[in-house]
Amino acid sequence: LPREQFAAGEQIFAQGDLGDKAYFIDRGSVDISAEQGGRRVVIARLKAGDLFGELALINQQTRSATAVAVEPTEVVAITAAQLDRALKGANPLLRKLLQVNLGRFQWTQQFMLQNTESGDAGQPLEKRAKRDLALEKEIETAIGERQFEMHYQPIIALRGGNTVGFEALMRWRHPRRGLLYPAEFIEVAERTGQIVEMGRFALEESLNALKAFQMLSSGAGASPRPPLTALAEAAPEPRPRSRDPLFMSINVSGRQLFELQEIDTIGDLVMASGVDPKQVKLEITESLLVDDPGHAAAALQMLREYGMKIALDDFGTGYSSLSYLHQFPMDTLKIDQTFVSTMGRDPKSYRIVRAIVGLAQELGMETIAEGIERNNQLAGLREIECDYGQGYLMSRPASFREARKLLQS
Ligand code: C2E
Ligand code: CA
Ligand code: CA
Ligand code: CA
Repeated sequence: LPREQFAAGEQIFAQGDLGDKAYFIDRGSVDISAEQGGRRVVIARLKAGDLFGELALINQQTRSATAVAVEPTEVVAITAAQLDRALKGANPLLRKLLQVNLGRFQWTQQFMLQNTESGDAGQPLEKRAKRDLALEKEIETAIGERQFEMHYQPIIALRGGNTVGFEALMRWRHPRRGLLYPAEFIEVAERTGQIVEMGRFALEESLNALKAFQMLSSGAGASPRPPLTALAEAAPEPRPRSRDPLFMSINVSGRQLFELQEIDTIGDLVMASGVDPKQVKLEITESLLVDDPGHAAAALQMLREYGMKIALDDFGTGYSSLSYLHQFPMDTLKIDQTFVSTMGRDPKSYRIVRAIVGLAQELGMETIAEGIERNNQLAGLREIECDYGQGYLMSRPASFREARKLLQS
C-alpha cells in the first residue's frame, strides 16, 4: 500500500475537498478539525494506529473535516477500490478482522443507507460521525480519569425472594453531563474497541464488589438475607434461606471475546481476584453466536474451562434463538424484558415465556427474567417457575454503597 509523508503543520485534506482515500496513521499524529460557527474546532487528535477519512471508502464525498499533521507523520493511504480487491481475496479470518476493525466504517455505511432511503443528503451522517469522534476522545479521557463506575441490580430467587446475586451495569459519571447510562456510550465504545478496556475495568470492579457483598451476606454473624419488600408481600409461603454464595453477572461485549488472548486476560483477572469462578456469570448476547459460531463456541468453551458460568442475555430478541441453545454451552437464559413487560396483559407472551422457561428446564439451564416492574408480572413468572428475576419492582440498579446497604437492611 502506498505511503505518504507529511511535515508538521502540513494539511492532508481540507473540509470540503472531494474525498477518495482513507488514511491509516503509521507514525506521527494528526489533528481533525471542523469549522463551527466561523471557528475552527479540533475534534480529535489521532495517533499511530488510528484510521481517518474512512467516509471516502463508502462513497466519493466531500470531507466533513480538515486533517493536519501535527508532527512529521507517515500514513498509509487506502482507496475504496483497494479495499474491495483486498476483501475479495482475503481469507475468512482476515475478513472478520477487517470487519471488526472497520466497525466504525461499517456502521457509517449502514447509516448512510438509511439516510439515502429517507432521501436525506447525508448531512446528519457527517454530524454523527463528528460526534462519534468527539465521544471517542471523551471516553479515552474517562477511562484515564476513572469516570466509569459500576452499579449493581439485585437478582432475586422468585421462590423465596432472597437476593442470590447482582447484575453489574456500567455508568459514566461525566464531569459536566452528570450520570450517563450505557445507551449514551456503549455503542461507540464497541465500534472503537474501547469496550475491551472498559470491560476489564467492569470485571475488576464488580469482582471486588462481589467479594464485599459475599462477605456481608455470609460472613460471621451475618443474618440471612432478607427478601426485598415487594417479594415479601407477593410470597406468603415460607422462604427458604439461601446458602449459596452470591453471584455476579457481568455483561461482556462480543468484541471482548473476539481475541482469545483477551479471554485469558478475563480468566486471569477472575483467578487473581480470589472469587470462586463459579459465582461469576458472563452475560453474552445472541449476536456473538450468530456472527461467528465457530469462534463463539471456542470462546465460550475457554471461559467455562476457567469455571465461569455463561448466561445468554436478551433471549428472544435476536434471530438465532432455539437452534443455538443446545449448540453452545450455556448455563443461564435471560428472558428479555420485552416479553416480561407484556406478559401480564397479553396471554400470548405469557405462553411464550412459559415455553421458554420449560425449554430451559429441559436443557438444564436456569432462567432469569429481566425488567419486572409489576406485581402481576412477578406473579406470572412465579407461576411458570422461572427461577430468578430482576427489575425496578424489587430494586433499581444501585451504587456499590447502596447495594451494600440493601444487603444489610
Ligand atoms: P442489559 O444487559 O439488557 O441490562 C438490563 C437493562 O435493563 C439495564 O439498563 C437495567 O438498568 C435495565 N432494567 C433493569 N430493571 C428494569 C426494569 O424493571 N424496567 C426497565 N425498563 N429497565 C430495567 P442499563 O443499565 O441502561 O444498560 C443497558 C445495556 O447496556 C445493558 O442491557 C447492556 O447491554 C449494556 N451494558 C451495561 N453495562 C455494561 C457493561 O459493563 N459492559 C457491556 N459490554 N455492556 C453493558
Ligand atoms: Ca445483561
Ligand atoms: Ca438483558
Ligand atoms: Ca438489553
